[in-house]
This record gives sequence, structure tokens and C-alpha cells, in this order.
Amino acid sequence: MGHFKVNQKDIFFILKEQLQYGALVTLDRYKGLSEKIFDMLVSEAINFARGVVEPLQEIGEKHSLKYENGKVSCPPEFREVFRQYGRDGWIAAARDPEYGGQGFPHMMRIVINDMMYGACQAFNMDKLGLHSSPTCILNFGSSDDCTGFLCGEVNMGLAHMFQMMNAARINTGVSGMTLASTAYQNALEYVKARVQGRDIAGRKSGDVPIVDHPDVRRMLLWMKAMVEGMRSMIYTGAFWQDHALELPQGEQKQHYADLLDFMTPIIKAYCSDMGFRVCETAIQCMGGYGYYKEYPLEQYLRDAKIMSLYEGTNGIQSMDLMGRKMRINGGAPFLAYKKEIEKFCRQHLEHAQLGRQVTALAKTFDRLTEVAQKMKDQMNSDPLQWASHTYPALIAFGEVTMAWRLLDMAVIAAHAIEKGRKSNFYIGKIMQATYFTDVTLPHTLATADTALRLGREVVEMPEGAF
Ligand SMILES: Cc1cc2nc3c(=O)[nH]c(=O)nc-3n(C[C@H](O)[C@H](O)[C@H](O)COP(=O)(O)OP(=O)(O)OC[C@H]3O[C@@H](n4cnc5c(N)ncnc54)[C@H](O)[C@@H]3O)c2cc1C
Repeated sequence: MGHFKVNQKDIFFILKEQLQYGALVTLDRYKGLSEKIFDMLVSEAINFARGVVEPLQEIGEKHSLKYENGKVSCPPEFREVFRQYGRDGWIAAARDPEYGGQGFPHMMRIVINDMMYGACQAFNMDKLGLHSSPTCILNFGSSDDCTGFLCGEVNMGLAHMFQMMNAARINTGVSGMTLASTAYQNALEYVKARVQGRDIAGRKSGDVPIVDHPDVRRMLLWMKAMVEGMRSMIYTGAFWQDHALELPQGEQKQHYADLLDFMTPIIKAYCSDMGFRVCETAIQCMGGYGYYKEYPLEQYLRDAKIMSLYEGTNGIQSMDLMGRKMRINGGAPFLAYKKEIEKFCRQHLEHAQLGRQVTALAKTFDRLTEVAQKMKDQMNSDPLQWASHTYPALIAFGEVTMAWRLLDMAVIAAHAIEKGRKSNFYIGKIMQATYFTDVTLPHTLATADTALRLGREVVEMPEGAF
């Protein structure tokens, strides 16, 4: 059995039951396609990732890149798999058929990347400071005269850069999430097999598998909720992207573009940071074995760290979110997001089973909105204090988004159970949402409050006192 573990049922739940991605065929560009064809593509991507890409993970780790006689070479298996990846049409799956693509929805690019990056991060040859992925540094002008050319307008560099980097930012979130996903699945398999310690409540005699220990179950449930919430967040963003790109000009198209604009720094920063934390928790579940090379976890942890740095560090993402995204076009990106969360809360506030959690979401979001509005003003009046709180505020938005996506899945699951389709699968969707919401949102509220605290230690601490 290879290292890459993925739960297909969870993936199809998000795609089919939560997003109903088959509805994309109502967009002109996808007229000739069908949900069945989308399903086949997803299943085939999983097969390709498992059967073809997955072996590269170990090969890359062991043999890595070579730099000899001025030439960089990677293990030959990478070249062969990359060729096949192109030949079989994966690279151009969402590209226009006019240019040799297969014309699938843009969101399928994200689903495909989810599988391939999970099977081997270094196969994402984009970059990555991983053993089998090339990274070089170019120093312009270090030994000679060097001329710089202005691209775009003066003082608009960051805005232009973000525009160019949006797809890369989302894919960085995908990388964090998919490593978290396979890390969780590996830990899950391990804790069912490892026998150690007695049942604390004496429900079983003798030693028990560690999956029976409440502290291990706490970590498992947190990881499950994190993985499913992040995957839903990312796939939802990708689904909006199709609407933003393919709807005819008008209010709806702009609404989806604004939504995606707001979500991009959250997907990038939240999923990369939390992807790393899930990998760390997966190691914790496995005890000393998690630390050994015999299992893939320690490699996942190393591979995941870079994601919070490149494509704009997460600190920079938070300044984009709490600054630009709150202000451009009268704050349209934030207002589009607010509209969606408020619509969800209005619809489900009275839900028999989940109403309490939806109420907590609404309350937390209201407070976060107040904080975000005040921070928007503070950006001019007290930029130092503002910049010292943008990162915690981004994490608070990430947590609210997670609670929203998890509760949305839970509402669907509760409905399925009501219709007589009771199963562990649906029970899990409800429990992960109630657990996450109950244990996370109180912290989110506290974080939102501290973002406006008056203490100025961060900005006024004398440098010599650090
Ligand atoms: C493996 C790898 C591959 C890479 N691939 C590419 C690539 O293909 N193309 C490419 O162009 N780049 C690439 N990079 C560069 C990468 O994008 C940068 O390393 C990253 O953006 C951080 O910039 P820096 O290293 O200069 O850190 P710094 O800018 O020095 O940042 C250090 C710390 O200071 C903070 N900081 C810096 N400036 C500010 C500010 N104004 N406000 C608040 N906080 C700030 C950062 O958030 C960070 O925490 C790669 C890097 C690595 C490690």
C-alpha cells in the first residue's frame, strides 16, 4: 500500500451533494458535458494519482535533484510521469479545446491538483524546496550593471503581483489541504492498528487500540473537520471561479468574482498554515513512529511548511485581506462574502438539530464584521496597530468560513438522515460540524476582540527589549 490515502466518498459528497457540480453544465462553455463525465474525470484523477504519480514521492525523497557539470537533472521517473501526465491530457484538462485542452470546468483543475499534489508534492514542479524539485536563486545586478523596467503603474506593484499570482495562491492552499488530508488518513489507519494502554472507562479488558483513547479521538476529529472544511472551502472557491469566468456580464458574474477575490488570501494562508498543523497533529497521533521515515508523515510536515511562505507570506496575505479586500470597489469583495454567510445563517437559524451552532456562527460573524469595519478605518489612522492584528483577523475569517462550510455539509447530512438514509458517513458530517463550531468559535470571538485591543506592546516594544 502506498502512502497516498484519500477518501473518495468525502470528495464526491462535497462535489455532488454540497456543490451539485453537475449544474455547471448549464453554463454555456460546458453545454456538451454531463455530471457523469465529471465523475469519471475525478475517479480517473484519483487512479492516476495513486497508480502513476504516487511512487514519485519516495523516489524524489531518496534520489533528489543532481547538480553536476552546470546541469540540473531530476530522477528520470519524474520526466516519464510528467510526459504521461501531458499525453493523457491532465495538464490541459480545463483548457480551451481550441488550443488542445479538454474544456472541463476550471474547478476540475483544482480537484486534479488536489489528487496529484497529495500523491507527490514535488511533482508540482512549479517550485517547492523539496528534495526532487528544483529551486534556484537569481541575483540581478550582483556582478554587473542591471536595468529595471517598470511593469504596470508606479506604486501598484503589489496589486499587479496579486492579480498575477491568484491561481498560484489558491493552489498553495490546495497543497496544504491535500497534505493534511493524506496525513489524517495515514494517522487514522495507524491508530486503529496500534494497541497500547487500557480503556480509561474499563469498557474493554486488556490493552486497546489507541483509537479508543479520548485524547487520540480528539485529535482525529479535529483533523477530520479541518480536512473536510478546508476541502469544501477550496472546492467552493473553485466552483465560484467557474461562475465568475463563464456567466454572462452582469451582477451575478461580479458577485462570484468578488467572492473569489475575498476568499483567495483566506484559502492561501489559512489552508497552508492549518495544513501544516494537521500534519503535526497526525504525527502526534502516531507517537514516535510518526517521527520516523518509515511513515510518510515527517516528509509531509517538511513539505508543508514552505506553503505559508511562498506566493506571498501569510502575513502579507492578511494585509491584503484586511486592507485591499475590505476597501476596493467600496468593499465589494467583503460585502459579497457577508451576503453569502448571512443568507446561510438566516436559512438555518431555526434548524432543529444545528440551530444552536448556526446561531453561534451568526453571532461570531457579526462581531467579526464590526472588527473588520473598525480595522478598515484604523488602517489609515493607526497603521502600525492595524498591521499588528491583520494575521489573527485572517485566521478568524478562516474559522468562520470553516464553520460555515462544515455546517452546510451537516445540514445536508441531517436532511439525508431525516429521509431515512442514516449512516456513519452522515453522522460523521454532523458531528464534525458541531464539534468544530463548539470548540472553535468561542476562540474566534476572543481573537476578534483582541484585534481591537488598545495595548500597544507589539508596536512599542523597544527593539533592545526583544
Ligand atoms: C522553495 C522556494 C521556492 C520559491 N519559488 C519562487 C518562485 O518560483 N518565484 C518567485 O518569484 N519566488 C519564489 N520563492 C520566493 C518566495 O516567494 C519568498 O521567499 C517569499 O515571498 C518570502 O519572501 P522573502 O524570502 O524575501 O522573505 P521576507 O520578505 O524577508 O519575509 C520574512 C518575514 O518578514 C515578513 N515581511 C516582509 N515584508 C513585510 C511587510 N512589508 N509587512 C509585513 N511583514 C513583512 C514576512 O511576512 C515574513 O514573515 C520561493 C521561495 C522558496 C523558499
